[in-house]
Amino acid sequence: MTPQPAQPVVWPRGRRAAACFSFDVDAESAVLHEHPQAAHRMSVMSHQSYGPLVGVPRLLRILDRRGVRGTFFVPGFTARRYPDTVRAIVDGGHEIAHHGYLHEPPAGVDAGTEAGHLDRGLDALEAVAGVRPVGYRAPMWELSYHSPRLLAERGFLYDSSLMDADVPYELAVPGGPSSLVEIPVQWALDDWEQYCYLPGISGSGLIESPRKALEIWTLEFEAMRREGGCFVMTSHPFLSGRPSRAAALDELIARAVDSGDTWVAPLSEIARHIRSLGLRPRVLAPPDPAA
Ligand code: ZN
Repeated sequence: MTPQPAQPVVWPRGRRAAACFSFDVDAESAVLHEHPQAAHRMSVMSHQSYGPLVGVPRLLRILDRRGVRGTFFVPGFTARRYPDTVRAIVDGGHEIAHHGYLHEPPAGVDAGTEAGHLDRGLDALEAVAGVRPVGYRAPMWELSYHSPRLLAERGFLYDSSLMDADVPYELAVPGGPSSLVEIPVQWALDDWEQYCYLPGISGSGLIESPRKALEIWTLEFEAMRREGGCFVMTSHPFLSGRPSRAAALDELIARAVDSGDTWVAPLSEIARHIRSLGLRPRVLAPPDPAA
């Protein structure tokens, strides 16, 4: 089947575009999944724990001051290890969404294994925060072709891991009970590419200036606004929770709020709006390299 582009979206209350500030609270999980032996590297673990211990509280203060509610993707492991942080996110009125248990990327694992990760993550968020999330983001943004069905079967409303549109859309779920709203992301709007440097684990060794990061994100925000798209910023509290980076993100949030024509909302609210539009679901099948 020939892939078709997403349909244009009309935003609520006459707004021209939408924006969400999302946060992936990976903490230690993203490192431990790829490098289990790093559990014994005390400094590396402290680099990751900065996120829930210092970054999240700072970012919550910024969001509160700007009157913005964000979406926080929390791996189950993070929820179990930092219950007070996760409860503070909920108490701040923000959305908690699913991000695996130990940050397991679904691509490349069988459906049964992936289902186990989903269920373990759901149990942790329920136990710690009393939350049944409606949103999912694949760790490393590595969705599998069976993820949509597994998510729909568990009652998820949306996923936010794919990259083939400027606007959200309905994603067909082959063999599943319904469709899933997809809210696309992009690597240029991920702070990992600008800031992450962990010797022997991740990063190039080059840590970019928050000024440069802010310039990239602001240019994309303004262009996305003109295009009527959905700007989804992805920040990691262990990176963007650092003081000068949080200050840069604060500038970006202020720009979005002050624009007056952009709807700034949690992804769950954006997904509910998309669902209300009754869009035709897009069918996305794996390409056949032999075709
Ligand atoms: Zn992550």
